[in-house]
Amino acid sequence: MKTLTLQAPDGVSTIVEALATGEPVALPTETVYGLAADALSPNACAKIFEAKNRPLSDPLIVHIPSIDWLPRLTSPTPTALQLAEKYWPGPLTMVLPRQPIVPDIVTAGQETVAIRMSAHPLFQEVATAFGKPLAAPSANRFGRISPTSAAHVLAELDGRIPFILDGGPCAHGIESTIVHVSEEGLRILREGPITREDLRAFAPLLDDSIAVSAPGGLKSHYAPRTPLVLEKNPTPRSKKTGLLAFSAPREGFAQTEILSATSDLREAAANLYGAMRRLDEAGLDLIVAEEIPESGIGAAIMERLRKAAAR
Ligand code: AMP
Ligand code: MG
Repeated sequence: MKTLTLQAPDGVSTIVEALATGEPVALPTETVYGLAADALSPNACAKIFEAKNRPLSDPLIVHIPSIDWLPRLTSPTPTALQLAEKYWPGPLTMVLPRQPIVPDIVTAGQETVAIRMSAHPLFQEVATAFGKPLAAPSANRFGRISPTSAAHVLAELDGRIPFILDGGPCAHGIESTIVHVSEEGLRILREGPITREDLRAFAPLLDDSIAVSAPGGLKSHYAPRTPLVLEKNPTPRSKKTGLLAFSAPREGFAQTEILSATSDLREAAANLYGAMRRLDEAGLDLIVAEEIPESGIGAAIMERLRKAAAR
């Protein structure tokens, strides 16, 4: 299969037709690029797992075109409705009890489904034209670094999907926050752009160490091929050690990527995966990542770095 990268607005109709024939396509979102397919078609969703080499035990996030789909796919609690009101469209995914129309392949057989509404104008345009929910995990091969540009998607999935819609670089650059919502409170399953501090205002935060299994829940994830270690004060170990620095370079590294020269955590998040990818492609034998402050979205960045380091 030849993979074509399409530009908006011309490419949009081709993308929508491909979705209607049950094909998966890569779309930009405000977090990372997603690999989208008709969420109500088990066959279309199966092609997502196939293209990504994703195990069927790892459920998909469903992106809805409009809020009226929320009660059609889930049983939303009052807190879920408040969170949707405040953060949708945006980088918050809610895990809620599913309705029977959600295919088992989407939920990996679980009784809950993960839902979000993307704020990316191109994603919204495609979802609205398609008129149905789209299942869309990140558009990378399983376990690898999530793509934040159309070129990254091509590097991951060339020959495995028909189309990529190019929407430029992603604004947030890391995946959505995932929160399990129940009558008892909120359980954060994956840290992200909507922070712990943001969510605490809506309901009690429950202990996440006993989280409902899975969300990128594997210990190793988001990983470059080059070994990566996380350190407070990075030092080079060899002539071919690369540095993933928070805000300033250090002596003696073969290659350096700086996440934010002004120590801006949001900018650091947006640059994280691109920087990791460039270091991974530089022929290094080790990447040392510098620990960053764990406040706000810094917690989500550190979660990704710990997973990249675990192997
Ligand atoms: P991705 O879209 O590639 O960032 O991955 C989606 C993440 O959402 C995965 O890590 C899943 O484990 C998580 N997820 C999706 N559905 C559910 C669910 N019903 N319960 C818990 N986690 C979920
Ligand atoms: Mg992913």
